[in-house]
Amino acid sequence: MPEFDYDLFVIGGGSGGVRAARIAASHGAKVALAEEYRLGGTCVIRGCVPKKLLVYGASFAEDLRDARRFGWDVPDCRFDWPRLRDEVLAEVARLEDVYRDTLATRGVRMFQQRAALVDPHTVELADGSRHGAKVILVSTGARPVLPTFPGADLGVSSNEVFHFKAVPKRLVIAGGGYIANEFAGIFNKFGAEVTVVVHSGTILRRYDAAVRERLLEISRKKGIAFRFDTRFESVAQKPDGSLAIRTVDGRTMEADCLLFAIGRRPNSAGLGLEALGVKLAKSGAVMVDDDSRTNVPSIFAVGDVTDRMQLTPVAIREGQAFADTQFGNLPHRVDYGCVPSAVYSHPPIAAVGLTEAEAREKHGMVNVYTAEFRPMKNVLAQRDEKALYKMVTDAVTGQVLGLHMIGPDAPEILQAAAVAVKAKLTKAQFDETVALHPTMSEELVLMR
Ligand code: FAD
Repeated sequence: MPEFDYDLFVIGGGSGGVRAARIAASHGAKVALAEEYRLGGTCVIRGCVPKKLLVYGASFAEDLRDARRFGWDVPDCRFDWPRLRDEVLAEVARLEDVYRDTLATRGVRMFQQRAALVDPHTVELADGSRHGAKVILVSTGARPVLPTFPGADLGVSSNEVFHFKAVPKRLVIAGGGYIANEFAGIFNKFGAEVTVVVHSGTILRRYDAAVRERLLEISRKKGIAFRFDTRFESVAQKPDGSLAIRTVDGRTMEADCLLFAIGRRPNSAGLGLEALGVKLAKSGAVMVDDDSRTNVPSIFAVGDVTDRMQLTPVAIREGQAFADTQFGNLPHRVDYGCVPSAVYSHPPIAAVGLTEAEAREKHGMVNVYTAEFRPMKNVLAQRDEKALYKMVTDAVTGQVLGLHMIGPDAPEILQAAAVAVKAKLTKAQFDETVALHPTMSEELVLMR
């Protein structure tokens, strides 16, 4: 009789958990996975994937208008939100099935239930059944932070956005991060009157000041309103169902929907972790070492629940490294240097490496090169939106320390350039590469 029911029990079937389960099973481990909601997790069900599909949907608003300048006789178009919403939800359901099939093919036993730990080697499911495992992986992700001021329960989180019955006429979004700015761009294009309320003085504070200023300028031109340095005091529902929102500076706003996008907190509560002595950070993040192992040797954690970098590709890499190391005899660790990231705003932002401010603090002497241009397509479309690319280099070695872009297709372009930044190439090596003309990305090798 084997000592345990499973070699590995994974709690949470999102980006990190699914990858870990699949890879561990392919290394020959006997694996079980419990998911309390829907397989695929945040990214597939209510994050990256449906969000990006809405971004595509929103982009047609400008494309259809611009098409007229390119000779197309486009009649007046009407946007049908329920049709897009249902197409997106159907695609999400299709992907969920793909995930389920993939795990089933690898022989992973799946439980559609909430799970918690009762001891370092035992998982208890919601139905009361207990399962022993040599190793337990916590990959329970994170959830939206919701505030507690009076009437805050009248607001919604990003989880609900994908199920809206209709596009709200007036949408107030709380938060200045990427999720807030992405939904601001999406619903602005769908015709909503959008106001973004930020408690600090800036949006997207982790991005380079120049690109975030550019996004602010373009977003305002598109009609998105911003209110900085303020907080909510209360929200009340009026007889017609709309919301009266009061901020601490005494101002009021009327809205049909209030969306909170003020951060995401690790899902570590109610898992039995504290009782087992697993160390948690103040934020609730499960604390792990470089191999994603907690202070209890049989318990590991990957992904957003560890709050290292809340990004899908990072969770996937952590799941892969964990499974290869523990079950494949292929030890390796995740390298968190030069992780590219993007904001799918209109236009999008993409970045890798250090911002100018970070580089100055860390390296002292830096050089900054920029390219500011109106993309050819925008010129003919008479769209007054300038793209901005910015490169930060070490003044002594010329090594590219950071690359920051805002403009059409910036994330698609940056992914390739991130290889060069990760490989520690210099500005001179960028410049040695002949431009590919006419493209926007050629600006990367022509910066002054
Ligand atoms: P998750 O994918 O959240 O999976 C955790 C799973 O655990 C969930 O399915 C949950 O139901 C389950 N679970 C929790 N507790 C239990 C329990 N006790 N028992 C059983 N199951 C449990 N990242 C990007 O890289 N690019 C993007 O463009 C992007 N866009 C985003 C947009 C939005 C609106 C949001 C909210 C997030 C976005 N992210 C994006 C972040 C990305 O979704 C997460 O970083 C990623 O999903 C983390 O993976 P994970 O495996 O750690 O957790």
